[in-house]
Amino acid sequence: MESLKETTETTLKQHLQELQQHPTPLYVYNLGLLRQTLQAVKQEADKYNYHVHYALKANANTPILNEMRTYGFGADCVSGNEVKAAIENGFAPAEVVFAGVGKSDEEINYALDQDIFSFNCESSHELEVLNELAAAKGKIARIALRINPNVNANTHKYITTGLEENKFGINAWELDSVMTLLQQLPNLKLIGVHFHIGSQITDLSAFKNLCTRVNEFQEWFETRKIELEHINVGGGLGVDYYHPEQNPIPDFEAYFGLFNQFLEVRPGQQVHFELGRSLVAQCGTLVSRVLYIKNGITTNFAILDAGMTELIRPALYQSYHKIENLSSSKAEVRYDVVGPICESSDCFGKAVMLPETSRGDLIAIQTAGAYGEVMASAYNLRTKAKALYL
Ligand SMILES: *Cc1c(COP(=O)(O)O)cnc(C)c1O
Repeated sequence: MESLKETTETTLKQHLQELQQHPTPLYVYNLGLLRQTLQAVKQEADKYNYHVHYALKANANTPILNEMRTYGFGADCVSGNEVKAAIENGFAPAEVVFAGVGKSDEEINYALDQDIFSFNCESSHELEVLNELAAAKGKIARIALRINPNVNANTHKYITTGLEENKFGINAWELDSVMTLLQQLPNLKLIGVHFHIGSQITDLSAFKNLCTRVNEFQEWFETRKIELEHINVGGGLGVDYYHPEQNPIPDFEAYFGLFNQFLEVRPGQQVHFELGRSLVAQCGTLVSRVLYIKNGITTNFAILDAGMTELIRPALYQSYHKIENLSSSKAEVRYDVVGPICESSDCFGKAVMLPETSRGDLIAIQTAGAYGEVMASAYNLRTKAKALYL
């Protein structure tokens, strides 16, 4: 096994000459680190016979999906095109789940034609529409109810999904009427329940609270003599954006161990996880060149050729990404590291200490493998950046 120290910044430095040949901005993926991460996930999940579905929305590049499939993970999709990407990249339809509050008729029909494993349904209105579309095809759709457990994930408000104020899932107080409705919808088969409370969750106590709520819901179903074959607890495990070199692989042992300790599983029941960020975030880096250095009032600006169009997380969630200068080893100076886009939020970091930086230096923005390339936009008519796999 390659040493972990060699997997992030050092790998990039080793490949510096190669990187210099490429146009920037460029997404660089470290497949060695990805494989080590997937191996760790598999080893810990297998201990408890847990099933992991990879959340495609974090990164849906074919080489990444190939690795996910090779390690035996299923696919968690939130759009018709993601279902399509999963199936076209070789995932068996029986391993594909489809969630989302706003599935269109076209997306539902496509997924019905593919006989996917489960629709994770988020409202009674959606159940009615799905039943109608399945009936028109003479099919029975397998569904899981996405329940909003009203658990605080203690993460950024834009990526909190499991509170009643959020648009996601069916609230506890609606469950009675949803179960009554389900009895009148013959083209739906309930196979389980689904939860997903948010993303970039680093305080594991949120998952413990989730387990407690899931146990309560399980009892609710049990008293009504409803059997659930599948419990899907979603994803959301966070990564260390501050120390990507020291912590390249999240603590999957603690994560799965916590569910094993606190989640009450019935005999024969399958437990599913849907992890996205924690599998791919650390293996990706956005590499960019410095275009200009410009004097500012308190710091200088290092103006990059990458911007919010290649990585929107800092602009959208005020999130932190570690920034390194791969080309310079001079004394450190403070910079505001910004992109070329016509928005003041197009800033990767304020008052960042970097070795003295010059035009042409290669800058690495770490931990960009998840919610980076997939969120790229063409704003300012920007050209789509390419990806390189090391
Ligand atoms: C986004 C999402 C996930 C994955 O979340 P991560 O934080 O990337 O692990 C899982 N399930 C559903 C339903 C999602 O929307």
